[in-house]
Amino acid sequence: MIQTERKRALVTGTSGQDGSYLLELLLAKGYEVHGMIRRASLFNTERIDHLYQDPHDEGARFFGHYGDMTDSSVLARLVEKIKPDEVYNLAAQSHVRVSFDLPDYTADTTAMGALRLLDALRDHVQRTRREVRYYQAGSSEMFGAAPPPQDETTPFHPRSPYGVAKVAAHWFGVNYRESYGLFICNGILFNHESPRRGETFVTRKITRALGRIAEGLQDKLFLGNLDAQRDWGFAGDYVEAMWLMLQQETPDDYVVATGESYSVRDFLEEAFGHAGLDWQTHVEFDPRYLRPAEVDHLEGDASKAEKALGWKPKTSFKQLVAMMVDHDRDMARRERTLVDAGHALPQSSRD
Ligand code: NAP
Ligand code: GDP
Repeated sequence: MIQTERKRALVTGTSGQDGSYLLELLLAKGYEVHGMIRRASLFNTERIDHLYQDPHDEGARFFGHYGDMTDSSVLARLVEKIKPDEVYNLAAQSHVRVSFDLPDYTADTTAMGALRLLDALRDHVQRTRREVRYYQAGSSEMFGAAPPPQDETTPFHPRSPYGVAKVAAHWFGVNYRESYGLFICNGILFNHESPRRGETFVTRKITRALGRIAEGLQDKLFLGNLDAQRDWGFAGDYVEAMWLMLQQETPDDYVVATGESYSVRDFLEEAFGHAGLDWQTHVEFDPRYLRPAEVDHLEGDASKAEKALGWKPKTSFKQLVAMMVDHDRDMARRERTLVDAGHALPQSSRD
């Protein structure tokens, strides 16, 4: 029997929400996966602990490597050492509100980080003549103030340092594709959520608080603008689109979205309704959650991805909300047990 060599993928941002789902997908497809993990004083691999494999085991197919998007030498070294077939650049300072507080760091990580990785790739490909396929995690925040529905032809009008940094990373990708013939795809993904979503994004902030409210561990939830509308999908569905982009004959850019949008108020209604609670008795306004410039309405048109990749979202808004609420109610029940045993409740979401 002819043994075909496993595909090798290098994933930055492996410890994040999308990184964890992508890791599951690539491992299930038989890849050898190398995940870049940044150094932190506490373990930051909670989302991928269930996928950990002892590198000493002969059959291990997941390997973690320390690295940081602000350090070009480590990016070049990892590309040279791993010789990946596919690179997924998911690492970023990914929080819009925080990007107003940390604009320089956000640009450094999210825009310059992508450029550093592309440059490492360009050198590697030019020297070795190998084909390496690259995915860039672009965002609907690049559209910002552009009216919906947004598709690949909609002009970008970002409204935050994060959005601007993602636009730069997008165009670096296009430029390296056109200049050096590299296989580079930009995914323009609309908001996607899950029970693994960071706890300071609005959906997870709501479902975490809701769980604690239901368990009597918290009474109030402070939020900003409830009128903003987002096209929310399930992260598990979206990583499949990332992979599909890199399996095509030619590289291209794609919008990935559900085509439906809901307001933050709609999300509250659906989530609290699922738990049999009334959000209006618990939610209060706090202006510190407003942004200096807001993105009012994102709703994507993903017909190109459907036609070219055969990709369609599988999870509805209602299913997504129920999945997150059920998960976070379970989590709050466990917290209740700990609190009853005298432990402190971990800090709740602030951004
Ligand atoms: P996330 O949960 O915030 O994960 C971001 C990842 O990047 C984490 O692994 C984080 O490491 C890592 N990271 C941050 N700064 C880094 C640095 N300087 N060097 C190396 N790694 C660094 O984000 P996500 O929701 O999974 O999103 C994945 C990507 O898609 C991001 O680029 C995001 O901007 C983009 N995106 C997300 C959405 C969405 O709705 N989720 C929509 C469009 C685009 P730590 O775990 O150590 O913090
Ligand atoms: P974004 O679309 O990447 O900015 O994702 P977020 O989940 O952070 O925010 C989605 C929308 O919810 C934005 O329009 C926010 O202004 C709005 N929002 C309202 N209250 C809050 C809050 O307390 N925290 C966050 N993160 N967003 C909020």
